Amino acid sequence: MQAHARTRFFQWASLVGGALATSAAGAQEAAKDNQPVIIEYIAHACFRVTSPSGKQVLIDPYASRVWLGYDFPPGVRADTVLISHPHYDHDGGESQGRAVPWPSKTLILRQPGTNQLGDMTVVGYAGKHADPWGKEFGQINTIWLLKVGGLRIVHLGDNGPLTEGTAGAIGHVDVLMMPIDSQFHILKADQIAAIRAQLSPAVLIPMHYRHDDLEASPGKPEQLGGIDEWAKQESGVRYLGSFKQEFSVGALPRKPEVVIFKHSPLVKPPHDPEAEEK
Ligand SMILES: [Zn+2]
Repeated sequence: MQAHARTRFFQWASLVGGALATSAAGAQEAAKDNQPVIIEYIAHACFRVTSPSGKQVLIDPYASRVWLGYDFPPGVRADTVLISHPHYDHDGGESQGRAVPWPSKTLILRQPGTNQLGDMTVVGYAGKHADPWGKEFGQINTIWLLKVGGLRIVHLGDNGPLTEGTAGAIGHVDVLMMPIDSQFHILKADQIAAIRAQLSPAVLIPMHYRHDDLEASPGKPEQLGGIDEWAKQESGVRYLGSFKQEFSVGALPRKPEVVIFKHSPLVKPPHDPEAEEK
């Protein structure tokens, strides 16, 4: 046996020995809590999360070409859709009576409460939409906590500052999806800082910002900035080369990271007849 082969054998033997020493139930529990969860970014505030067993939730799908200049891609599968609040850029256009981008039999969750979806527990907390918007529906905003694969993943919707009570109820957060853009459309800089301090996520995923490559005119959508100007001021920023990333408890960063996804390649820039004529 060569030296490196021997080392590898001992590593293998100690792994096997360690696993045998653990009780079967304990090992199963540990394995269950360290399985990869897939997060995909569609665009704007919309993500799809896939559990280790393949359960899928779609969070805050937007309506095509309302405020945002691009379409919601057809055929995005999900077992359940989570909606934070009834605004067109979060509810698929449902509250405006538009054709929603999910099949009619899909389970839709809007209200606070706890739901078990296979190997994923989804908990909604009653929050409040950031000022000054959403007065027409009482500024309700459900914050979603997904407990999956041992991770605690939170999507804030368009929530404003968190009360101590809400932050305490949410508890420990590993991955946080939060509305951030360089014009501070939803949350101001100090409010972003306060929520980060309250929840201290290992991974912060910005959302709800302008996608330059998907917008035809520079002034649109109104009052919504991009993410790069904001990210420049931050440390620990990682730009992903993909719209899809696996997360697991064992692979969480030791130092907090800001992870910026690409939007899904299924979301295309709008067709521009003028550009094609040239
Ligand atoms: Zn919004």
